[in-house]
Amino acid sequence: MSIRFIYPEFEVVRNENRCIACRVCERQCANEVHSYNEDKKVMISDETKCVNCQRCVSLCPTRALKIVKSDCTLRENANWQNDTIKEIYKQAGSGGVLLSSMGNPKPLPVYWDKILINASQVTNPPIDPLREPMETRVFLGKKNGKIERDENGNLKCDLPPQLELSMPVMFSAMSYGSISYNAHASLARAATELGILYNTGEGGLHEDFYVYGPNTVVQVASGRFGVHEDYLSAGAAIEIKMGQGAKPGIGGHLPGAKIVGDVSKTRMIPEGSDAISPAPHHDIYSIEDLRQLVFSLKEATEYKKPVIVKVAAVHNIAAIASGIARSGADIIAIDGFRGGTGAAPTRIRDNVGIPIELALASVDQRLRDEGIRNNVSLVVGGSIRSASDVIKAIALGADACYVATAALLALGCHLCRTCQSGKCNWGIATQRPDLVKRLNPDLGSERLVNLMTAWRHEIMELMGGMGINSIEALKGNRLMLRGVGLNEKELEILGISHAGE
Ligand code: SF4
Ligand code: SF4
Repeated sequence: MSIRFIYPEFEVVRNENRCIACRVCERQCANEVHSYNEDKKVMISDETKCVNCQRCVSLCPTRALKIVKSDCTLRENANWQNDTIKEIYKQAGSGGVLLSSMGNPKPLPVYWDKILINASQVTNPPIDPLREPMETRVFLGKKNGKIERDENGNLKCDLPPQLELSMPVMFSAMSYGSISYNAHASLARAATELGILYNTGEGGLHEDFYVYGPNTVVQVASGRFGVHEDYLSAGAAIEIKMGQGAKPGIGGHLPGAKIVGDVSKTRMIPEGSDAISPAPHHDIYSIEDLRQLVFSLKEATEYKKPVIVKVAAVHNIAAIASGIARSGADIIAIDGFRGGTGAAPTRIRDNVGIPIELALASVDQRLRDEGIRNNVSLVVGGSIRSASDVIKAIALGADACYVATAALLALGCHLCRTCQSGKCNWGIATQRPDLVKRLNPDLGSERLVNLMTAWRHEIMELMGGMGINSIEALKGNRLMLRGVGLNEKELEILGISHAGE
């Protein structure tokens, strides 16, 4: 007889006075928590399957439902905590690696929350963004080290290819396969309307989305899924994915069950076969090898597209970035340890990598020290949650930010953190047609446009308060930042003073 060691994490609380047994909750829950008991004529719940995605709560017409975290705890102590004990029970039952999704939830420092932004007072007046021009546009790509003029005194404008963004934000890589067709459609449409870019991730580009090419970053990852000449030419930029913040040092695995229909066609692999991305690119073992791929991709696209190299934030990231900047890449994307994922081994997600704030500051400083900062633009991601995180990242040295989890929240994600199950009740991280259709791309793109429009206003307000009227003037301007509750070493790496200094 098997013993059930783990009490359910969540309890379904149904107000029987309000419940009209309409069975909406039963139809909405892909985890099959709710069912109707014909004998007793009441709704019942199997709480062991609930992931607290809030779908049934949101759609219950009589507000009869709520999901609460169970207060039934195991006998924990400071060393053996509830989650740790449950993980042991799970592995003792399954014999398998624990899988998770979304970003690292551990209570490690969030440096964005320990950094405060400056504001002008008296001598350096603030700027009113409603009445005065404010430039939020950024151009990503290699810049010339100095201004040059021809014999007639005209500026020589022979810049390498640049990406133009209306604001310093892009939607980060999420593959078709890990997220749904409708989620991709929402991101592509919103990016186009906003004048920014979204990113295919490693799953290829669905034929319907080629029209959004000028607002698309096409990714080339170690599995090379869906990579062909038209794909490379379709995007505004090409991103070589070397690593990902949620799972540095390992590859990816999309189970065969998710490789169905158009996902299989877009990835160019047979239906039902597992999509396994190897941990390394099998043709890259040095910066010289990376350089070969960078230039192969440039050659394939007639040197018209900037090439991004994306890496996870790891211990020696500054040296790695220095190498990438010398590889011919135009943009370096760095993904911090809180970056999200559709699926990653829990141990990797929660224990590998470093915070993006420290990685960014050390990379920007190293590239400046080496005199090669203009060779590349820096894009950072890994839990950028708000306009103020964006401002802080720019002041620490970033040119732009990648945003993913916040974009999924705008689409309706409730952070139930079970994307790996493929049963996303909000139609985002799923390929099940009945679930996918729950996300309306018209509404999805509208909500993404709203979110980014709001962030852009806030960015302008924050900049105006600092007396700064362009992103370019804020970039790497660490004097605009102060730390609170940080030790000397942290302040030194961040390159900022403590509040009060
Ligand atoms: S998994 Fe989601 S839809 Fe199902 S019972 Fe729990 S909260 Fe409701
Ligand atoms: S995308 Fe869906 S499955 Fe993933 S965390 Fe959000 S609601 Fe849950």
